[in-house]
Amino acid sequence: MHAGTRRSQYGEVSEAIYVTQGFVYPTAEAAEARFEALGEDEFIYARYGNPTVRMFEDRMAMLLGYEDAFACTSGMAAVSGALTAMLKAGDHVVSSRALFGSCLYVLEDILARFGVEVTLVDGTDNAAWDAAIRDDTRLVFLESISNPTLEVVDLRHVVKAAHGVGALVLVDDAMATPVYSYAAECGADIAIVSTTKHVDGQGRMLGGIIAGSRDLIRGPVEAYMKHTGGAMNPFTAWTHLKALETLVLRVNQQAATAEAIAVALDGHPKLVHVRYPTHAAHPQHVLARAQGETGGTVLALEVKGGKDACFKFLNALELFTISNNFADAKSIITHPATTTHQRLPQDQKDILGISGGMVRLSAGLEDADDLIDDLKAALDAV
Ligand SMILES: *Cc1c(COP(=O)(O)O)cnc(C)c1O
Repeated sequence: MHAGTRRSQYGEVSEAIYVTQGFVYPTAEAAEARFEALGEDEFIYARYGNPTVRMFEDRMAMLLGYEDAFACTSGMAAVSGALTAMLKAGDHVVSSRALFGSCLYVLEDILARFGVEVTLVDGTDNAAWDAAIRDDTRLVFLESISNPTLEVVDLRHVVKAAHGVGALVLVDDAMATPVYSYAAECGADIAIVSTTKHVDGQGRMLGGIIAGSRDLIRGPVEAYMKHTGGAMNPFTAWTHLKALETLVLRVNQQAATAEAIAVALDGHPKLVHVRYPTHAAHPQHVLARAQGETGGTVLALEVKGGKDACFKFLNALELFTISNNFADAKSIITHPATTTHQRLPQDQKDILGISGGMVRLSAGLEDADDLIDDLKAALDAV
């Protein structure tokens, strides 16, 4: 609520939005001094930093439990920026296979083009991590809870294995939610959050944050980001600051609703299964409960009868909107096999469990009973 606040001489209550590209210096000597060594709260150009953006960075660092953070134009600017900032040709990376599609593209296509070797593993298999992490592994990448299949990674185990060979651990932490992120607690070096999701939470702005130690963030991350142009703009930072004021309330209610939906639909005759990380029907619920205080705001269902039955179900919903985002105040339903993961080859879909009957469901702020009634009525229509 308060971390990072920078008040102007007017003493405003609500954070000020500094819409400026540059900053002026009282004298030529002052300009020279600032370019020589930037002080704690000094700025020279908005691509490098801006007071409104810095408020948001400080607040997110405190929320996520890290020393510092760099705010980016989107979650993917944060993921690709952090990876590129840390890696060079010849490095070896180990990553879980169950990844957001764009993350997979950055790892498999872009990094490969620059001579980085990437080994993909089943993130739920601790032995697979142990076998893949080598003495020359430089970095480990994973989603703490994967999108859209909600696989849970044993983060403490992976961090221990990676740190054993001196590798950095980068966690893409969108699904765990910034409120209940456990990346810092488990020892991950960097947490990356698409602030497009729960932080904005109302379907407006794209944003991302890279959080970590001051040495990493104000070292390689800032150096890469400020020279390549992925810095967040002050208007986004300001809407994000205002959204952070209600973040905990929204996430708590959305997580409670997601869990209530999982409980209400578990065992439904039209469903193969319901998946919510901390619910007993999830194969990894013991691990999910040990690591996180909630299972997040997203759940997955598999409708019996494949794509045709699933589309009937989707089209019969009245309250859930068909879209491909998640963590919005409005409840959203997604058919990953034909949208977000359409281009993934069939064998990869099979490995990850992205079937024709599978949907990802993002619980919003509507009344939970209304949402459950909507889902049940749509299942009846199948
Ligand atoms: C949404 C998402 C991203 C990308 O974030 P954008 O803000 O859309 O660029 C990356 N990783 C995960 C896990 C996501 O859910």
